[in-house]
Amino acid sequence: MSQPPIQQITVLGSTGSIGISTLDVIARHPDRYRVYALTAHTSKEALLDQCLAHRPRVAVLDQETDALWLRQALDDAGQATEVLAGGEALCQVAREASVDTVMAAIVGAAGLLPALAAVQAGKRVLLANKEALVLSGALFMQAVERSGATLLPIDSEHNAIYQCLPKEHRGGLGKYGVKQLLLTASGGPFRTWSAADIASATPDQACAHPNWSMGRKISVDSATLMNKGLELIEACWLFDTTPEQIQVVVHPQSVIHSMAAYVDGSVIAQLGNPDMRTPIAYGLAWPERIEAGVETLDLFQIARLDFETADEVRFPCLRLARESIQKGGAAPAILNAANEIAVAAFLEETIAFNAIAEIVAHVLSLPYDGDADSIENVLAADQWAREQAAQFVEQR
Ligand code: NAD
Ligand code: MG
Repeated sequence: MSQPPIQQITVLGSTGSIGISTLDVIARHPDRYRVYALTAHTSKEALLDQCLAHRPRVAVLDQETDALWLRQALDDAGQATEVLAGGEALCQVAREASVDTVMAAIVGAAGLLPALAAVQAGKRVLLANKEALVLSGALFMQAVERSGATLLPIDSEHNAIYQCLPKEHRGGLGKYGVKQLLLTASGGPFRTWSAADIASATPDQACAHPNWSMGRKISVDSATLMNKGLELIEACWLFDTTPEQIQVVVHPQSVIHSMAAYVDGSVIAQLGNPDMRTPIAYGLAWPERIEAGVETLDLFQIARLDFETADEVRFPCLRLARESIQKGGAAPAILNAANEIAVAAFLEETIAFNAIAEIVAHVLSLPYDGDADSIENVLAADQWAREQAAQFVEQR
């Protein structure tokens, strides 16, 4: 049998937690994958090391001064990687004709436009950046439909659900006998904490996730359960379901990554060790399977699996997210933007942990008459909510 042609990959957000795991899987399969472009926001030293190891054609940083530094460092090392700067360069390496697959692993709303550029160019898009769907789910899914892009979810829960569904599942899950999606949640580091202890939690405590090692923003989102709220919205768009068809199941071991319940009583689950290289390898190789460097699950060592309901009193962000998708329009974009500002303020120790939910609730309660029917309008809602949230932070 002849070897399939080598796939060219752009990794957006390559210096982050998902980016690093992606490069780890790619490096295990030099016969299948080659890195076309790597991108980072400000971590130029980390990007230099990745460029030397993976020899991409292009590297992108946010600022021209950082790009200048990287160009010089690569030149000194005798490497011919082209270095670009700025947001348009991210879109350029996402839509580049010779690229087959784009890993969308920038954190936050900043990842939307390059992910959308990859979709519009009809690429295989491995979507880790859940915020893109929270902001603009309808427009994003329409763009996938129009361009014929292959969208593969990398968020572990959505990747699990994808694996539990029939291969063809577009146009509403009811058509395929799916009754409900069971979205598992670890419960985060504060699952067993009292409301009073949670209120005074520090950034380091919030970022000490029991099962997953991740970037700081998503770690805080996991601690507030906003991450599960964002994932609920993400699942509605990816799988064409209503929020009522999705049940959040707290499962502290993080071994079952999510499930699909069918009308005949079957519940299909995907299990594995909590390691993002599994969904990443799935997305890279789909519909084939490749080695990811992840140990097979040892069920005897796990010994037991526990399940609980989510407590929306101690963790109001989950309820706020559900209400925002039920409301629709620009509400999820507003929720996301307010959350990004609040989480950044918490990480800078400007506000307390429980102020994150208060800020998001406050901004969602303000009147906003804009819509979410175009990317421009989505970005306007995002900008408006950031300003409102920043004002609220300042007043506290
Ligand atoms: P991270 O903070 O570790 O990395 C983020 C990456 O994006 C870095 O390379 C950074 O340089 C880049 N970046 C940050 N801000 C940017 C900006 N304004 N412009 C351009 N680039 C920017 O984050 P992560 O944990 O790897 O998460 C990435 C995305 O994947 C997030 O949307 C997160 O919700 C999602 N996700 C992560 C995990 C995980 O296990 N880490 C799991 C599921 C989903
Ligand atoms: Mg997840």
